[in-house]
Amino acid sequence: MMARKGVFPSSNRERITEEPTINSAQSAPTFYQAKSRVLIALILALSFHVAVTPGHAKGLTDEQVAQNQALARKLLKNLKPGQRSINLGCMDLHVDQLRRLASGEKASFIMDTGIPGVTRYWPNGNVPYMFNPPGIEDGTTDAQGRIAMGRKEVVREAMAEWEAAAQLTFIEIAFTNFIIDGPEQFILVSDHPDRNSSMTGKEPVFLGPQTLNIKSWDNPAFTKWVVVHELGHALGVFHEQTRSDRDNFVDIIEENITEGFDHNFVLKPDSVNFGAYDFDSIMHYYYNAFGIDGETTIEPLPGFEQFKFTMGQRTSLSPSDRAGMAAIYGALLPTVSPEHQPPAGNYNNPIQFTLIILASVDQGNTRYFYTLDGSVPSTDSSEYFDGDIVPISGNTTVKYFALKESRSPSNIVEVEYTFPNGTPMVDTPVISPTGGVYEGNQDITITTTTPGADIHYTFGFSFPT
Ligand SMILES: [Zn+2]
Repeated sequence: MMARKGVFPSSNRERITEEPTINSAQSAPTFYQAKSRVLIALILALSFHVAVTPGHAKGLTDEQVAQNQALARKLLKNLKPGQRSINLGCMDLHVDQLRRLASGEKASFIMDTGIPGVTRYWPNGNVPYMFNPPGIEDGTTDAQGRIAMGRKEVVREAMAEWEAAAQLTFIEIAFTNFIIDGPEQFILVSDHPDRNSSMTGKEPVFLGPQTLNIKSWDNPAFTKWVVVHELGHALGVFHEQTRSDRDNFVDIIEENITEGFDHNFVLKPDSVNFGAYDFDSIMHYYYNAFGIDGETTIEPLPGFEQFKFTMGQRTSLSPSDRAGMAAIYGALLPTVSPEHQPPAGNYNNPIQFTLIILASVDQGNTRYFYTLDGSVPSTDSSEYFDGDIVPISGNTTVKYFALKESRSPSNIVEVEYTFPNGTPMVDTPVISPTGGVYEGNQDITITTTTPGADIHYTFGFSFPT
């Protein structure tokens, strides 16, 4: 999927929207501003040591570079005091990136940081985030930036989708923790009155929050996948319909694009693409995205017409979405396989025993699923809970696996129990109460531990059959 680097929009008609910030009245902003001052000094110091980064010159024409340069200069001129980023559709660009583009740097989009050893990917896949807390004025959107309590869960569900695809861990930080001992950089999840947007990748060069804005809260089932899309940006992914090979798959109908939004469709000639072009990507746009009066803006080429009304889906991560994110942050670690008792092998008649599945490593919150008929187990199969009794009383092939949240399933363990000398004996039944002298009538029960066994009995002296 995805481009790791992209193109800076060639449009010069961008809508400029202020990025909400949290620096306002209360104690935290004071701390935050103090941190920022330190950082400004740091940026200045770094700029002397960072020479030109030559890496990203491939694919861009001189004309494109000049376009980027002109646009970046224009956008920088229009910055308001304290503004740190510029909104471009559903992606935001940091002023530092603008400055580098304004200087004529030959990157189509800046995914590297210009600082040796520092990328825009979140180190070790750890992504700190904070919900814009109630009571903190937002600066540009007033109370709109405060995240409503009831909206947190859908954001967490969206994060879990990416956590289930790659080695990613979203770490919520409380506002108080931020004041005392906050991470250098984190995502500030905020309400926004009129846009869903995010920075692309981790901001490397300033301390404090980078805002992920959400406006589409009305339908939680949809909201979740809008957040997944924006998180995709925050994790460092660009739009699928701008990757370098997209002209082999779709036709962009420029005259139908609403003025000011054409940057969302600009080809990124130097993108790094993971896997084949993916119409089903969560990072793809729908066919009439930003279309004037709903006109088509993305037309699949002949041979791909079937994707016209399915692309732009916001209902799931595609396999390529998962694979692409795993390529960046590492594939999920597999769940450690469980063990079992007794060992596989031949058991002589008479025998019956209980299978026990046990964790070889305590991983916490691990689930176990098994079958007894040799079929491949899935999460629809019988689930084994600690202390369960699974009787084995005949030739049996047991297959089982373990599954832990945010990990891939363990290998399936296969174990065969055979009874070469015949079928095992049913357990001797037990009668209750035991024989003895009782006054009056007595109800009796006869039970055996062998499940499904029939029990036959007689009263008197005949043998039961
Ligand atoms: Zn987007």
